[in-house]
Amino acid sequence: MIKTFGVSLPHVKKRAVRDEVTAVVRDLAESSVALALKDLAMAKEQAALARRVRLRFNIRLDDSLKRYTCRGCKTLIVPGVNARVRLGHGRPAAVRITCSECGRVNRKILRRPYIRSGKVGKSNS
Ligand SMILES: [Zn+2]
Repeated sequence: MIKTFGVSLPHVKKRAVRDEVTAVVRDLAESSVALALKDLAMAKEQAALARRVRLRFNIRLDDSLKRYTCRGCKTLIVPGVNARVRLGHGRPAAVRITCSECGRVNRKILRRPYIRSGKVGKSNS
Protein backbone atom coordinates (compact mmCIF):
# COMPACT_ATOMS: atom_id res chain seq x y z
CA MET A 1 0.00 0.00 0.00
CA ILE A 2 2.82 2.36 0.77
CA LYS A 3 4.03 1.94 -2.83
CA THR A 4 0.91 3.66 -4.14
CA PHE A 5 1.80 6.96 -2.47
CA GLY A 6 2.03 9.70 -5.04
CA VAL A 7 0.90 7.51 -7.93
CA SER A 8 -2.31 8.72 -9.53
CA LEU A 9 -4.91 5.98 -9.51
CA PRO A 10 -8.37 5.83 -11.01
CA HIS A 11 -11.03 6.96 -8.57
CA VAL A 12 -12.48 3.51 -7.93
CA LYS A 13 -9.12 1.96 -7.36
CA LYS A 14 -8.23 4.80 -5.00
CA ARG A 15 -11.28 4.04 -2.87
CA ALA A 16 -10.32 0.38 -2.64
CA VAL A 17 -6.82 1.36 -1.60
CA ARG A 18 -8.26 3.72 1.03
CA ASP A 19 -10.35 0.91 2.56
CA GLU A 20 -7.31 -1.30 2.72
CA VAL A 21 -5.20 1.47 4.24
CA THR A 22 -7.91 2.12 6.86
CA ALA A 23 -7.53 -1.44 8.12
CA VAL A 24 -3.76 -1.14 8.22
CA VAL A 25 -3.89 2.19 10.08
CA ARG A 26 -6.28 0.74 12.65
CA ASP A 27 -3.96 -2.20 13.26
CA LEU A 28 -0.99 0.12 13.49
CA ALA A 29 -2.72 2.42 15.97
CA GLU A 30 -3.91 -0.48 18.12
CA SER A 31 -0.53 -2.17 18.21
CA SER A 32 1.21 1.11 19.06
CA VAL A 33 -0.95 1.41 22.19
CA ALA A 34 -0.13 -2.17 23.17
CA LEU A 35 3.57 -1.61 22.51
CA ALA A 36 3.70 1.54 24.65
CA LEU A 37 4.04 -0.52 27.83
CA LYS A 38 7.23 -2.18 26.58
CA ASP A 39 8.89 0.35 24.29
CA LEU A 40 7.47 3.85 24.36
CA ALA A 41 9.87 5.31 21.79
CA MET A 42 9.03 2.63 19.23
CA ALA A 43 5.32 2.95 19.97
CA LYS A 44 5.49 6.71 19.40
CA GLU A 45 7.19 6.18 16.04
CA GLN A 46 4.52 3.70 15.07
CA ALA A 47 1.75 6.10 16.09
CA ALA A 48 3.42 8.92 14.15
CA LEU A 49 3.55 6.73 11.05
CA ALA A 50 -0.13 5.85 11.46
CA ARG A 51 -0.93 9.56 11.78
CA ARG A 52 1.02 10.45 8.62
CA VAL A 53 -0.80 7.78 6.64
CA ARG A 54 -4.12 8.95 8.11
CA LEU A 55 -3.46 12.49 6.95
CA ARG A 56 -2.42 11.30 3.51
CA PHE A 57 -5.59 9.26 2.97
CA ASN A 58 -7.95 11.43 5.01
CA ILE A 59 -8.90 8.61 7.35
CA ARG A 60 -10.66 9.19 10.66
CA LEU A 61 -10.28 6.96 13.66
CA ASP A 62 -13.17 6.25 15.98
CA ASP A 63 -13.31 7.68 19.50
CA SER A 64 -11.81 4.61 21.15
CA LEU A 65 -8.51 5.13 19.31
CA LYS A 66 -8.68 8.91 18.99
CA ARG A 67 -8.21 9.44 22.71
CA TYR A 68 -4.69 8.00 22.50
CA THR A 69 -3.47 11.06 20.62
CA CYS A 70 -2.64 14.31 22.40
CA ARG A 71 -4.42 17.26 20.83
CA GLY A 72 -1.52 19.51 21.70
CA CYS A 73 1.63 17.72 20.52
CA LYS A 74 -0.11 15.02 18.42
CA THR A 75 1.99 12.34 20.06
CA LEU A 76 0.85 9.00 21.41
CA ILE A 77 -0.45 9.19 24.96
CA VAL A 78 -1.23 6.09 26.95
CA PRO A 79 -2.74 6.36 30.43
CA GLY A 80 -0.33 5.05 33.06
CA VAL A 81 2.65 5.39 30.71
CA ASN A 82 2.84 9.04 29.69
CA ALA A 83 -0.55 10.39 30.59
CA ARG A 84 -2.60 10.99 33.73
CA VAL A 85 -6.34 10.46 33.83
CA ARG A 86 -8.61 12.35 36.22
CA LEU A 87 -12.36 12.51 36.50
CA GLY A 88 -13.94 15.94 36.59
CA HIS A 89 -17.15 16.44 38.49
CA GLY A 90 -17.94 19.88 37.18
CA ARG A 91 -20.48 20.75 34.57
CA PRO A 92 -20.14 19.32 32.06
CA ALA A 93 -18.58 16.24 33.62
CA ALA A 94 -15.42 15.33 31.78
CA VAL A 95 -12.48 12.96 31.82
CA ARG A 96 -9.24 14.93 31.85
CA ILE A 97 -6.25 13.23 30.26
CA THR A 98 -3.08 15.18 30.96
CA CYS A 99 -0.24 14.62 28.50
CA SER A 100 3.09 14.34 30.29
CA GLU A 101 4.97 15.20 27.08
CA CYS A 102 3.59 18.72 26.66
CA GLY A 103 1.30 19.14 29.67
CA ARG A 104 -1.84 19.68 27.69
CA VAL A 105 -5.07 18.67 29.37
CA ASN A 106 -7.18 16.76 26.87
CA ARG A 107 -10.81 16.81 27.92
CA LYS A 108 -13.35 14.21 26.94
CA ILE A 109 -16.82 15.49 27.76
CA LEU A 110 -19.07 12.79 29.13
CA ARG A 111 -22.50 12.61 27.65
CA ARG A 112 -25.25 13.97 29.80
CA PRO A 113 -27.51 11.43 31.43
CA TYR A 114 -30.44 10.50 29.27
CA ILE A 115 -33.00 11.94 31.72
CA ARG A 116 -31.58 15.45 31.50
CA SER A 117 -31.98 15.56 27.74
CA GLY A 118 -35.72 15.93 28.30
CA LYS A 119 -36.69 12.73 26.57
CA VAL A 120 -37.71 10.97 29.77
CA GLY A 121 -40.44 12.25 32.01
CA LYS A 122 -42.17 14.25 29.31
CA SER A 123 -45.33 12.82 27.93
CA ASN A 124 -46.15 13.56 24.35
CA SER A 125 -49.83 12.67 24.57
ZN1 LIG B 1 0.95 16.49 24.38
